[in-house]
Amino acid sequence: GQTNSALMARRAAALPRGVGQAHPLFASKALNAEIWDVEGRRYIDFVAGIAVVNTGHCHPKVIAAAQEQIPHFSHTCFQVVAYDGYLTLAERLSALAPGDAPKKTFFVSTGAEAVENAVKIARAFTGRPGVIAFNGAFHGRTLLTLGLTGKIDPYKLGVGPFPAEIYHAPYPCELHGTSVDDAIHGIELLFKNDIEPKRVAAFIVEPVQGEGGYYPAPAEFMQRLRALADKHGILLIADEIQSGVGRTGKMFAMEHSNVVPDLITMAKGLGGGFPIAAVVGRADIMDALNPGGLGSTYAGAPMACAAALAVLDVVESENLCQRAADIGEHMQARLREVAAKQKSIGDVRGLGAMVAVEFFHDGDHARPAPELVKAIIAEALKRGLLLLSCGSYGNVLRLMVPLTIEQNVLDEGLDILAASIDAV
Ligand code: PLP
Repeated sequence: GQTNSALMARRAAALPRGVGQAHPLFASKALNAEIWDVEGRRYIDFVAGIAVVNTGHCHPKVIAAAQEQIPHFSHTCFQVVAYDGYLTLAERLSALAPGDAPKKTFFVSTGAEAVENAVKIARAFTGRPGVIAFNGAFHGRTLLTLGLTGKIDPYKLGVGPFPAEIYHAPYPCELHGTSVDDAIHGIELLFKNDIEPKRVAAFIVEPVQGEGGYYPAPAEFMQRLRALADKHGILLIADEIQSGVGRTGKMFAMEHSNVVPDLITMAKGLGGGFPIAAVVGRADIMDALNPGGLGSTYAGAPMACAAALAVLDVVESENLCQRAADIGEHMQARLREVAAKQKSIGDVRGLGAMVAVEFFHDGDHARPAPELVKAIIAEALKRGLLLLSCGSYGNVLRLMVPLTIEQNVLDEGLDILAASIDAV
């Protein structure tokens, strides 16, 4: 049989270094919240393909929907010959998106493409060039989305220049000393020194900053951002690529603040593992581009639309929004018990099933401890639990379990996590 080490050796020769890999493993199968490697070892999955398999690995209804579609047709290109699955999915997402105004939806294949297209639409609608993103943001790896992304190394190193007229404001994060006032003031400083508000097409914001450290934006911040946007005719784009589709305990994380964005980008959890991404937004704004201005060859592929429709069915029928809220509460309670005995844990937080533990040397918030997080991840892997870090300093452990995880598997994973933290 195959071994992880032999495949890792081939990988090093065959693939560029830039294709990172968190764990030295190759998968052989996965079911709900468990993955088995090629050597037959079992792992509990607290990563969910980076918040993608919200409905679990290989949910029977999602798999059946994709399989049912394949023999009918696998590809026509929606812009050439249309199909009902795309249309029905668009109607459903438009109906689910927050706000009373009529919505429209279209599909692409990846999160980065969704963000690119949301910015294109915002520019076309407003006739303005500027985009304001936030420090610590992650919006993708294409050149525009890299321009919007905050972190330099590894994403932006050596690959600029990036598209013009992109600015960054502080993201509110009390833990690291940025209040809501500071963040709003940062935007006002940009207006004063760098770009007049009437040249700004959009704010783009993650309602829970994902790669940047799992920091939920306070509701007050979202409300003030919405007010600034309204005052200056700027559009508000919510990047819900990581936070959407039930992950935070609501269908969209924006529902926690009751702020209605003009455009929403989604991907990850939408397809449950089949590549699909969406832009959903106010109908009048979404119509800004001329026919042919939106789409791509594979956009909204038939199998991905079928899978996404099944994902939405499962989120509803299995009550996964409520389950996400319950999972988050349970995990945070357990992690707070661990934190009470661990000086290095400086914060336990989350919104629904986007849960994070942040590590510092001696609990000092000025001294992030990424090496500790690395050691915990390595220890947990030995004990059969998959984990992933995030944050500008890499000192945040983020937990994003499938929302369908069995309670006993969740608790088994939490036991391994607690033991791994104790062991390092
Ligand atoms: N936006 C956010 C908030 C994300 O978390 C990600 C991916 O991690 C992206 C955009 C990019 O999505 P993709 O990797 O599908 O291009």
